[in-house]
Amino acid sequence: MKKKGTVVCICAHPDDQIFGPGGTLAKYAKEGKKILTIILSYGEFSHPHFKQEIIAKTRVKESEDADKIIGGSGILFLGLKEGKFRQHEKKTTKKLTNLLHEYRPKKILTHASDDPHPDHRATFKLVKQAYDRTQLQCPVYTFDVWTPFSTHKRDAPYLIVDVSKTYKTKLKALSCFESQLGVWGFLINIYYVYAGTLLRNFIAGIKHGHRFAEVFYKLR
Ligand SMILES: [Zn+2]
Repeated sequence: MKKKGTVVCICAHPDDQIFGPGGTLAKYAKEGKKILTIILSYGEFSHPHFKQEIIAKTRVKESEDADKIIGGSGILFLGLKEGKFRQHEKKTTKKLTNLLHEYRPKKILTHASDDPHPDHRATFKLVKQAYDRTQLQCPVYTFDVWTPFSTHKRDAPYLIVDVSKTYKTKLKALSCFESQLGVWGFLINIYYVYAGTLLRNFIAGIKHGHRFAEVFYKLR
């Protein structure tokens, strides 16, 4: 089957692509679009009591499992150090520019500029810089990962994706990231991240007349 265009998702850590736009990516994959994900770090600080390379390996495996569930076509890790995304800004921007040229996406998804996590904001900046260096005309949309509500009033045009039919897939993909959390990590995740994600997608759904929805703001 010939793929109906490529969607590129660029995020900071190995689970953001599912927590944020997971339902949308699964939906696009179902529609026959090719989903390529670029993850800037291995998320090795997520479990400080494990050795970093072991964590990186686990996180790669978890992400690849989740990618299979949503019907993605693969993940590329850039291996940046968490908290230090801006350290090699020029090099990373260039790398992203080259990748965008290579992938020729029809749509790009990345973090929002006002995300509370500094790595997410740094990712936004790097993607924006890289995109502006290309001659691509495709739209760039941003998503939230943590916040249940969008706290800032944004004037940018937005995109509402009805993910009711792929929401189960999103939750299944999210479950790939539970394995290495430990009891406390698991509980924290359930209460803050899962509940936040569910609540956000549910509220957006109510607001826009769907069971579950993911909301994106247009950057370009
Ligand atoms: Zn993240």
